[in-house]
Amino acid sequence: MKFNTKAVHAGVDPDPSTGAIMTPIFQTSTYVQAAPGDHKGYEYARTQNPTRHALEKSLAALENGSHAVCFSSGMAAVDAAIKLLDQGDEVISTNDLYGGTYRSFTKIYSRFGLGFHFTDLTNPENILPLINSNTKMIWVETPTNPMLNIIDIEAVAAIARGHGLLLVVDNTFASPYLQNPLDLGADIVLHSATKYLGGHSDVVHGTLIVKDPNLAERLFFIQNGNGAVPGPQDCFLVLRGIKTLHLRMQRACENAARIARFLHDHPKVDKVYWPGFEHHPNHAIAAKQMRDFGAMVSFTLHGDDYDEALRVLSNTHLFSLAESLGGVESLIGHPASMTHASIPKEERLKTGLVDSLIRLSIGIEDGDDLIEDLQKAIG
Ligand SMILES: *Cc1c(COP(=O)(O)O)cnc(C)c1O
Repeated sequence: MKFNTKAVHAGVDPDPSTGAIMTPIFQTSTYVQAAPGDHKGYEYARTQNPTRHALEKSLAALENGSHAVCFSSGMAAVDAAIKLLDQGDEVISTNDLYGGTYRSFTKIYSRFGLGFHFTDLTNPENILPLINSNTKMIWVETPTNPMLNIIDIEAVAAIARGHGLLLVVDNTFASPYLQNPLDLGADIVLHSATKYLGGHSDVVHGTLIVKDPNLAERLFFIQNGNGAVPGPQDCFLVLRGIKTLHLRMQRACENAARIARFLHDHPKVDKVYWPGFEHHPNHAIAAKQMRDFGAMVSFTLHGDDYDEALRVLSNTHLFSLAESLGGVESLIGHPASMTHASIPKEERLKTGLVDSLIRLSIGIEDGDDLIEDLQKAIG
């Protein structure tokens, strides 16, 4: 089945008791048993919920996995992936990382005896000197946030396989429409479904998707054991969002390509970060592993003036000033003071995250209106 058809149909069958075409929101905490142990596959809603099961089947299909395991947020999905590790284990991670993930790695899990190394994974060879007998996992995010670097998933997967390491790819920025890391050799795909999968800025949700049934079983054990499960209403909203994922992504990518070129030609704009440019250093890898170049664009202003950046940020009308991304509406943000404020300045400067960097999450409005809004704000 092709992707667009899977987005509409995968995992979702008419409800057997009523014929309802939409999977109902099973808002229940427990299920009645005819006799002890005699039940219909559902005992208690932390462990099983039919709305969640439909979503898990849909997500597994979109990423060409065997199983998806759903959580109450993207960070709860990060938490479950990390809990595959044991005390003393080490993780090698990209250094250009979602701020919340960096914060959990350095401020929470490091207290439990786990070690983290951060390096520039746009050169996968950088992994090699960091591998030791405690290394168990490689953590990749691509495109990266907010610099929009592209990491070669196949090349990293080859190193992971060669050393018996688990490869986790946070695929939030690409969405399954653009990129399927399991097909490129990753073991676990992570999504904050809060972003493109939900797509309407109305739900917080996370998921892990795998091919290996043994890994799925370990993750279901952690999901049930730790209990960070999503509610059925949230699962319903993500399922509904997925039905238009392909249409939303197609429009958002088209708008992003136009906006990236507009910014590139603007005299007040210094650098524009978008992997669709042929001069982007990782363009060839993006063209190889992604179906399009995504809907995130970052840019800096000449002179790297903090106040000038704040002026632009407060003068757009269609682009709303907010954290997050991946919704139908366009957002504008300032990583240095918002999403990446928890990363020390000297760390963020190393990755190019300067004070005037502005990040756009481009939505599905009319591209002409979006460009006019930016033109007026930048001046
Ligand atoms: C938002 C985000 C997360 C965290 O997800 P939540 O749903 O906010 O908990 C993790 N990784 C990336 C890349 C994200 O953008």
